[in-house]
Amino acid sequence: MRRLFYRGKLADTITITGPDAHHLMHVMRAKPGQQVTVVDDMGQAACMEMTDFTAETVTMKLVGLLDADTEPPVNITLAPCLLKADKMELVVQKAVELGATAVAPLRSRNCVVRYDAKKAAQRQQRWQKIADEAAKQCGRTSLIEVAAIADLIPYVQGRSGHTKLLFCYENETQQGIKKTLREAAEEGVKDFVILIGPEGGFTLEEAEAIEQAGGASVTLGPRILRAETAAVAALTVVQYENGDLGGITGGE
Ligand code: SAM
Repeated sequence: MRRLFYRGKLADTITITGPDAHHLMHVMRAKPGQQVTVVDDMGQAACMEMTDFTAETVTMKLVGLLDADTEPPVNITLAPCLLKADKMELVVQKAVELGATAVAPLRSRNCVVRYDAKKAAQRQQRWQKIADEAAKQCGRTSLIEVAAIADLIPYVQGRSGHTKLLFCYENETQQGIKKTLREAAEEGVKDFVILIGPEGGFTLEEAEAIEQAGGASVTLGPRILRAETAAVAALTVVQYENGDLGGITGGE
């Protein structure tokens, strides 16, 4: 069933406007009597039946609330340094599917791509659109935010002290991500940031600054992964270790 996100709180009757209404009417060619899944700002999902159409609105009535929380047990911000356009889009889409709670694109020394302010704003909008579509497609019960592009060092220095900053570093050979995650679980950590470098990797100065800001340098294994592979692998491992992706959330 098609899923859409409603900016507001679900009620017995709601009216959809804007791109979602347009999509229902002109792309899906929806008709009165058809049903859709609607998720509100609180993450509550419901089955709604379309009843009335105008040129710009679709009105729906509540059929029944759905018990369908698909959000992960921990908050994970994926923070990849800027990658070439197609790779970045892939990373945003996969981050949503894998349950990231936010994506924070970062500018670092070795980034190949450079955007001026106008282009950066356009990119952010495009990534947000990809994230919203992915959230609908994979059945998320929350939309995830793609933040504006930030500079790497101020970003890591400004993160909350309660957040575990997983610094995925291609030069780390001693500390594996598994051990770090198991220690984090014992400490009850519920908020993670996963830092992934650009195609050219991190500079030594950046690595030092990240560690000084409390970043836990971790390896993902003996091979050098492409940045987009590293992002997907790290997110998968963090989710798995925290009870997501292994089957029923919280189950054995
Ligand atoms: N150009 C760098 C080099 O040759 O050493 C490799 C950079 S890698 C393509 C891009 C990013 O993916 C890295 O900065 C890191 O964040 C992550 N990454 C790749 N392989 C990794 C590994 N084995 N362990 C931890 N992070 C890894």
